[in-house]
Amino acid sequence: MFAMRLHAPGEALRAERVPVPEPGPGQVLIKVAACGVCRTDLHVVDGDLTEGRYPLVPGHEIVGRVAAGGTRFAAGARVGVPWLGWTCGECEYCTSGRENLCAEARFTGYTLDGGYAEYALADERFCFALPQRYGDAEAAPLLCAGLIGYRSYAFAGEGRTLGLYGFGAAAHILAQVAKAQGRKVFAFTRPEDRNGMEFALRCGANWAGGSDQAPPEPLDAAIIFAPAGALVPQALAAVKKGGRVVCGGIHMSDIPSFPYALLWGERRVQSVANLTRADGEAFMRVAAETPIRTQTKAFPLEQANEALAALREGKLEGAAVLVP
Ligand SMILES: [Zn+2]
Ligand SMILES: [Zn+2]
Repeated sequence: MFAMRLHAPGEALRAERVPVPEPGPGQVLIKVAACGVCRTDLHVVDGDLTEGRYPLVPGHEIVGRVAAGGTRFAAGARVGVPWLGWTCGECEYCTSGRENLCAEARFTGYTLDGGYAEYALADERFCFALPQRYGDAEAAPLLCAGLIGYRSYAFAGEGRTLGLYGFGAAAHILAQVAKAQGRKVFAFTRPEDRNGMEFALRCGANWAGGSDQAPPEPLDAAIIFAPAGALVPQALAAVKKGGRVVCGGIHMSDIPSFPYALLWGERRVQSVANLTRADGEAFMRVAAETPIRTQTKAFPLEQANEALAALREGKLEGAAVLVP
């Protein structure tokens, strides 16, 4: 099969011919129809995340059809494969509903080969059925941007006013979910990013502005999707007493020191790590009921490096999706 593989952090992916992998017990072989490009893939390729094994096939927003193996899904069934690819099932986290924190966890497209290829293997217990209403490419961003975004959203609580810092793939999905649930959404982009602000407004945001601006009203909660630690004190300054600031990314630059007054008033800062299968099932129910329009830009699989570059340079509206 054809695959885009990373041989060392910091290098470009190489287009290669490799054998189609064979499914082991409990695994399904999936013919990939689409694979989303996530910011985490950039952190893997750039070496910000250091546990990868090389050569590695990145990609953890896989939509495809079961070609062989497993018993949970019929042959030909459409499935989605997310970031969480395997957990031990026995540790204190796995046995308390927090498998996202399992120390032995394996991750698709990072410690397991992912979906930047014509075929991928997955543990069938960690795959999801996908709502019918979404096409293959449209569904791909739901699998991480949507799903881990939704875990961040759940941690943001029930408040009426929600700030989203960094308006990319995750925020454009979450803004639509939040609006459908009757919340007010305030989008923060890079200060000069007019296109990003207009994109946020088209996705239903009530207001869009630069991350250096104060929102027109205080926020109950903020979610930071941009990997910039400097946004943490800025978001704390924008939330009310009792408000929450949720950091939704896997990697962030250092958080600058800030006066305790910004945290005072029972404001909270919370990180979000990975996902549980229960998060995935909950989000797929929301996605089935809510008509989310995922904005995608398709790239041929062999242009994975170009797709990553477009994401790195902030040139994308919505999500890049690789199509074999
Ligand atoms: Zn475990
Ligand atoms: Zn991701």
